[in-house]
Amino acid sequence: MSLAISTEKIIILERMIRTATRIAVVTHVHPDGDAMGSTIALRSYLKTGWNKECCIVIPDACSETLDFLPDADDREHIICRSENPDAADGWIAGSDLVFCLDCNGFERTESVAPALLASNAEKVLIDHHLHPQEEQFALCFSECEISSASELLYRVLMAMPDVHDDCSVLSMHALEALMTGMTTDTNNFANSVYPGTLEMASRLLAAGVDRNAIIERIYNCYRENRLRLIGYLLGKMKILPQGVAYTVLTAEEQRRYDIHDGELEGYVNMPLAIGKVKMSIFLKEDGERFRVSIRSKKGTSANACATRYFNGGGHEQASGGRLYIPGDIAEASKAPEYIEKAIEDFYKNS
Ligand code: 5GP
Ligand code: MN
Repeated sequence: MSLAISTEKIIILERMIRTATRIAVVTHVHPDGDAMGSTIALRSYLKTGWNKECCIVIPDACSETLDFLPDADDREHIICRSENPDAADGWIAGSDLVFCLDCNGFERTESVAPALLASNAEKVLIDHHLHPQEEQFALCFSECEISSASELLYRVLMAMPDVHDDCSVLSMHALEALMTGMTTDTNNFANSVYPGTLEMASRLLAAGVDRNAIIERIYNCYRENRLRLIGYLLGKMKILPQGVAYTVLTAEEQRRYDIHDGELEGYVNMPLAIGKVKMSIFLKEDGERFRVSIRSKKGTSANACATRYFNGGGHEQASGGRLYIPGDIAEASKAPEYIEKAIEDFYKNS
């Protein structure tokens, strides 16, 4: 029922961990619940199971809505490169084993990528995105038909000889982090749910994970501003005749609503609640570019749209990218025009 993890790969991984003295765990820029959940769970395993020295290196800070995830010890071992570039690069340079989680290659770690390229450490990929950059890694666990990097990590850990398919061997902290990652990446079990997803969730619950508390922290602790801004954005959203909804959020609007990074997580899914909407595109102005999020219903490829028009990619139904100012559009106000042309082209040529 659930994914089989190759025994040969587990033997190699076990040898890599056993012989490592310093370990770096890296994830993608703007780390989300799956990125933070999987990295924190892996660090907990390496620390409690192997007593290894391990730091998590994130390219930039994660949203404060995920503040509940790291414990006091994690906080001392998470290096945010945008805040502390020398410490981040130094940790990677001094590590003999590097894990990349929830990103398909170095590029998605943006500012961390040069340190990864320069490093001679053995590198392991654990990821669930399309197009893994296998040549960058000594060992790859890559699977797209799975809910999350957290679920894939769980499968890998369950296959380790010291865990032996018994999740109670892992710390409660690791189990909660894994539950958080799979919950946020599936949009609370609405997308990318496979038989193995529910089987894993069931085993985490049986092991004592308090899912109600996690749900409370993820979905019921927002500031009022988020909801107010979402109300405004739904009013502003446009629906094109092709069944594509798009919303553009300017820097000025973010200031007006005093919105913090990550507080609009999940907004992009909302327009898909409309029957005729097949794809939702959300642009958020961020310095000299827009950050782009795309979600689609089955039969429409968010990934193709993100790859062709928005310098990005991701999964078939959930992708992202960016739109550069002035690279792709002369000024921010031209974004709607760009999107409408892109969608016309997308449907003409697909
Ligand atoms: P989100 O909309 O939540 O930022 O991203 C949705 C999905 O698209 C995630 O799986 C994420 O990894 C992927 N994604 C987001 N931005 C980019 C990007 O710039 N490049 C690529 N290749 N994938 C992205
Ligand atoms: Mn993920």
